[in-house]
Amino acid sequence: MPLKESEAIVLRSFPLGEGDRLVSFLDRQFGKLRGVARGARMPKSRFGSTLELLSYIRIWYFEREGRELVRINQCELIESFLDLQNDYQAGIYLALLSEITEGVLGEREVADPQFRLLLLAARAIRTNGPSPAILAYFALWTVRLGGWLGSLERCAQCGKPFEQGFAYVSPGSSELFCEKCREPESRSSFGSGRRLEQISQVALSIGRTALSGTLERSLKNNPSLSGSDEISSYALNILEQHMERKLTVRQMLEASKSGESNLKN
Ligand SMILES: [Zn+2]
Repeated sequence: MPLKESEAIVLRSFPLGEGDRLVSFLDRQFGKLRGVARGARMPKSRFGSTLELLSYIRIWYFEREGRELVRINQCELIESFLDLQNDYQAGIYLALLSEITEGVLGEREVADPQFRLLLLAARAIRTNGPSPAILAYFALWTVRLGGWLGSLERCAQCGKPFEQGFAYVSPGSSELFCEKCREPESRSSFGSGRRLEQISQVALSIGRTALSGTLERSLKNNPSLSGSDEISSYALNILEQHMERKLTVRQMLEASKSGESNLKN
């Protein structure tokens, strides 16, 4: 039973038994794993606050042959995001990053790019606050890393560049269509079960910037909130389609937004 040492990000943890924790984490080398931290809920636990949401840690664990769960032996905190939980909205953002990562990755699927993306997004939330542009960047890159991204440049049918008007997409699909090529049956609001979503030029441009440059550059342009939301929504729909379920935290985020706009009105 060899002891492994690695870097990891804590995705989630749940109480288990009397004083233990069941921890889902993204190991930088070996992908998404789940393990048991014995006594982690006891007073003076040696795990301290290392097992909090998105904690970036050094971890030592034992893999047990034929067992899905590893036994977590020791953790050291490299970077904590616990302080961000003081801001409700930032806390929701972190939970969404975690839920997406956990949902799209298979067990033990090597995922170093997703590891770096997750850390980058969490740090950006610390620096910039919970900005919709960060979520847009994270969601689009997760879709791209999964290999599910469509073109934000040109129509999937006729190949014409999106230069004016809207692009159209059936929620959950990655293919964007121009005004002309969007499915005829969807033009009428009756009779067709499929609702097409419109994506504005502003949103497409935010998406292209995110995919062609750094997150820093994406944020520097001070991108529009509604444009960021539109392109996030496109990417999150694709992720939900692949996960075959709705993201729970996304619903919380949307509820908190509509709560805010009700207050303003
Ligand atoms: Zn077209």
